[in-house]
Amino acid sequence: MKTYKRVSTIKKYLASHRRKKQTIGFIPTMGALHEGHVSLAKASIEENDITVVSVFVNPTQFNQTEDLKKYPRNLEKDAAILKEAGVDYLFAPSVNQVYPLSKKTGPKLDIDHLTFSMEGPNRPGHFEGVVQVVHRLVKITNPDLIYMGQKDFQQFTIIQYMLTHLKMRTRLRVCPIIREENGLAMSSRNQRLSKKIKTEASIIYNNLVAAKKALKSKKPDAIERKAMKDLKTGVFDPEYFEIVDGYTFKKITNPNRHKLIVACTAVWAKKVRLIDNMILKGEHLLYPKKKK
Ligand code: AMP
Repeated sequence: MKTYKRVSTIKKYLASHRRKKQTIGFIPTMGALHEGHVSLAKASIEENDITVVSVFVNPTQFNQTEDLKKYPRNLEKDAAILKEAGVDYLFAPSVNQVYPLSKKTGPKLDIDHLTFSMEGPNRPGHFEGVVQVVHRLVKITNPDLIYMGQKDFQQFTIIQYMLTHLKMRTRLRVCPIIREENGLAMSSRNQRLSKKIKTEASIIYNNLVAAKKALKSKKPDAIERKAMKDLKTGVFDPEYFEIVDGYTFKKITNPNRHKLIVACTAVWAKKVRLIDNMILKGEHLLYPKKKK
């Protein structure tokens, strides 16, 4: 595996692969890699000739400087994980490389219709930062496919919208959420949890599972209210628990009227903010079986 820090260098090498008609898969990450990230890399390796992973803690998507400062960073360990997984290129640029002062780097894209709820109002400016960085990284790597996790449901929906709306050639693959044994969704932020809280955090997954079961017999708003109540313990404090249409993020009243339904939640575990979700209806729409 080769590691590059400069935009011009990675562009040069990827162009040489493209000239040989090799396909390129790309996985944008912020590092502190875990099995969730590795699953994306493996999906790309299976499907493409060349796999590129970026590790870049994007300052423009953090709405709290404290969160940005505390974000775990360990490039050496990340590089070892990616090498072991069989990744071809690690792109680890500096902020100046991604955002050169002389260049406008964000696309013009109205995402208000996808940011009015859940992560949107709770993290002002976050998705604008995500769009800005993914757009820039896709321009640099020009991949055939980009791989993102279902873990960040609103994020991949917005990136899908960006790719379609801006008529970009890159296609998106969504990969399933990788979880700890107790059901806690893997996240770089889990490193900041104590062992005890990490164990107790199964309460988030358990509430999502309960919501999936309950949707057969109970009204969505009653399920949401119960989850908000159950998730408020001395240690955990839910910001939201919403059952929404998986395309529009609008609230559900009658589940029969929707093809894709997802329950999304953000829960504070002391000072660590955890997000998770579960598809309650229409899993096959995100993970269609591959044609043989
Ligand atoms: P991050 O480094 O947190 O920005 O995440 C980079 C990519 O990895 C995003 O597309 C995430 O959705 C994805 N990801 C993060 N955690 C998981 C997980 N537990 N399972 C699958 N994908 C994940």
